Amino acid sequence: SADAAMYHAKSRGRNNFQFYAPEMNGRAQDFLEMETQLRDALALEQFEVYYQPQYDMRDQTLVGAEALLRWNHPERGMVPPGDFIALAEETGAIVPIGEWVLMQVCRQNRQWMDEGLTPVRVAVNISIAQFRSNLSQTLEQVLEQSGMPAELLELEITESMLMEDEEETITLLNELKEKGLHISIDDFGTGYSSLSYLRKLPVDKLKIDRSFIAHVVHNQSDAAITGSIIALGQNMDLRILAEGVEHEEQRDFLLQHRCYIAQGFLYARPMTAEDFVRLL
Ligand code: C2E
Ligand code: MG
Ligand code: MG
Ligand code: MG
Repeated sequence: SADAAMYHAKSRGRNNFQFYAPEMNGRAQDFLEMETQLRDALALEQFEVYYQPQYDMRDQTLVGAEALLRWNHPERGMVPPGDFIALAEETGAIVPIGEWVLMQVCRQNRQWMDEGLTPVRVAVNISIAQFRSNLSQTLEQVLEQSGMPAELLELEITESMLMEDEEETITLLNELKEKGLHISIDDFGTGYSSLSYLRKLPVDKLKIDRSFIAHVVHNQSDAAITGSIIALGQNMDLRILAEGVEHEEQRDFLLQHRCYIAQGFLYARPMTAEDFVRLL
């Protein structure tokens, strides 16, 4: 794949000629190799969708799940998305990969329904490149081909994606809502969306970012932020989910503040479809 690496470095322009220097550093080489492998991973069927259950903390009922992508790399083993999503976004590979995730999730769910299981809504992370490239049509096709009811699919977008082109964003989200899809804002609290803008967006749910939940019990400002997000959600009639709940103290804090839905290692880690279906 030296040729492919060479081609990529060239196509990125003159400034990248440093890659050919004899002291070519390991990281750059590593990066180019990953990029090539990532492009082939889809065809080689190296991706797998994991599911992390979401629970109502009041009674431990399963209320939903988040689909989380894993890359089964032949040499590196299971690669977490933190190690390749950014690269996939940069190269544009995220668009076909993201489409595959959507199709996989919808087909899998449809199959579980056909087997007579009670389905739960599954949330899929949408990247900015997908959001800006015919997402509406893609979803139409995926829903039609899979036979999955739109109501059982949730799209997770981030605050930063909402910041560009406000009018266009509102139009697109309205279109998706009309199809019956649910929309949630992921990692909420880490971006800069204004309250007046948020009010105009047809979203269903705020997912409180894990970084606030991590120290919510001992850090005053994290507790204040978390409390404010919960109050905001309640006032705006949005559902609230806490990400990254690992300890009982965090659960107790959230329940006291009337946030009932959570996703976190206290309840379950992301798991294979095979393991997840046993929970349905
Ligand atoms: P995210 O959407 O915020 O997903 C939640 C992440 O938090 C997951 O990491 C999950 O494993 C982790 N997590 C959940 N509960 C806990 C907990 O109690 N403690 C800790 N320490 N972590 C917890 P993961 O699977 O590594 O995914 C990382 C990020 O990669 C995701 O963050 C999401 O932004 C992105 N991602 C994953 N799958 C996809 C995908 O299919 N498409 C796109 N575009 N992005 C994806
Ligand atoms: Mg997410
Ligand atoms: Mg998140
Ligand atoms: Mg997060």
